[in-house]
Amino acid sequence: MPAPHLGEPYLLTPGPLTTSYAVKSAMLRDWGSWDGDFRAMTVTLRQGLLALIGDTKGEFDCVPIQGSGTFAVEAMIGSFVPKTGKVLVLANGAYGKRAAETLGYLGRDFSLIDKGDYLPPRGAEVAAALAADPEITHVIAIHCETSSGILNPVKEISDATYAAGRKMLLDSMSAFGAVDLDVTDIRFEAMVSSANKCIEGVPGFGFVIARKDALEQARGNSHSLSLDVHAQWAHMNKTGQWRFTPPTHVVAAFLVALEAHRVEGGVKGRGARYTNNRDVLVEGMRDLGFVTLLQDRWLSPIIVTFFCPADPGFKFDRFYQLMKDKGFIIYPGKLTVVDSFRVGCIGQMDEHVMRKVVVAAGQALAEMGVDDASPPEIALIERARLAA
Ligand SMILES: *Cc1c(COP(=O)(O)O)cnc(C)c1O
Repeated sequence: MPAPHLGEPYLLTPGPLTTSYAVKSAMLRDWGSWDGDFRAMTVTLRQGLLALIGDTKGEFDCVPIQGSGTFAVEAMIGSFVPKTGKVLVLANGAYGKRAAETLGYLGRDFSLIDKGDYLPPRGAEVAAALAADPEITHVIAIHCETSSGILNPVKEISDATYAAGRKMLLDSMSAFGAVDLDVTDIRFEAMVSSANKCIEGVPGFGFVIARKDALEQARGNSHSLSLDVHAQWAHMNKTGQWRFTPPTHVVAAFLVALEAHRVEGGVKGRGARYTNNRDVLVEGMRDLGFVTLLQDRWLSPIIVTFFCPADPGFKFDRFYQLMKDKGFIIYPGKLTVVDSFRVGCIGQMDEHVMRKVVVAAGQALAEMGVDDASPPEIALIERARLAA
């Protein structure tokens, strides 16, 4: 796998991420948004994404939405939850909380199960919450909660939701394309992801993949002109065009990324490379004494949270700069109780790169005079909560 262009650092971040030279080069041309060539590209984009969910009966459709991933989440919530609906939000990190915040902005009724920084919402508690509140119409779950890197148990959440006769909406932003999401296995009305995560495109649009019957029923729900998924869907089906100026270059780059995803073996192939990236990273970092927030069964192949070492010589800002000087951009942590940092496993990187990341981390520790990367006692206590 070729290194990024001329001294660019690797982005060990969950999007924007390191893209291939071919993806970047695809943007060196201009397209007319109304032109037949671009309309054909939009068709390829929608079909290529639909091919990833195992929809053998043709029950789903794909609707791209301009903007970053959050725009698509807001579009999904505003379009699929009727104004009289009520949503149960399952939060264990920033993105679950953001879904709740979005509902607040939209004036949709909701209740929240907040599990804190990382504990997973479980099927049994979803079942109990739904039994206790018959007004809840929808459940929103986060597939991979990128703030900790946990892979949430969306299958048991979906089973509990539909067993109670309610509907699921899924934020699969950082998982889609690398973690299996087969509609014959995991039931949902709609899910969202974006161009700059596991498909390895550049930022500029998100997409909703939804049941066609849910799309039909979404007519008139949206609070927003530009984020109305039904209107975008209907217009696209009728004219082949996006309703407002599409990010033409981003779409062109995305098609190259999507083809590379197919050549790599689709969701399975992409997931296997990321899993290997994670395994090499975690093993190497553990050898240096670092401890992961999550036990192995909850680790996603997307991003890993490590506790900061207890050694007073360790300063995250210095560590960040030393890693950057060595060619790797890492990510600060998002835990409220203990200091942490995150390392992404997605993007144009393989195990060779991950080995270099570990070497760089070891050198950075040495330069800070830290010879033991183990975390403070409180981190280990925190971590043990998940074992129960
Ligand atoms: C990246 C991400 C989003 C969207 O974030 P943007 O910054 O708007 O692109 C939403 N949910 C999850 C789980 C994500 O990882």
